[in-house]
Amino acid sequence: MASLPQLKKSPPTGWQQHGLCRAIDSDVFFPPPWFEHKPDREAREARAKRICARCPVRLPCLDWALATREPFGVWGGRSESERRRILGGKLKAS
Ligand code: SF4
Repeated sequence: MASLPQLKKSPPTGWQQHGLCRAIDSDVFFPPPWFEHKPDREAREARAKRICARCPVRLPCLDWALATREPFGVWGGRSESERRRILGGKLKAS
């Protein structure tokens, strides 16, 4: 398996203080610690994406999640599997 390029420095995080998810239970953005059936995951991710769609910092959030290879959760309106596809060139970011 090919290794991912290492970051030269941490990307900026000032956008985080403006995220809509700061005032919302993070359970909707992250998978539970138990097995989550596909319909439940899809419903949870759809709820998170609806919040992200209204968020003023969606793009820097997505940039950060892609740059740091954030492995879990919905960030910037994209699920972990969607971010993997973006990084693999199989899906456009926007
Ligand atoms: S885009 Fe979504 S995950 Fe990112 S800060 Fe906004 S609400 Fe939170």
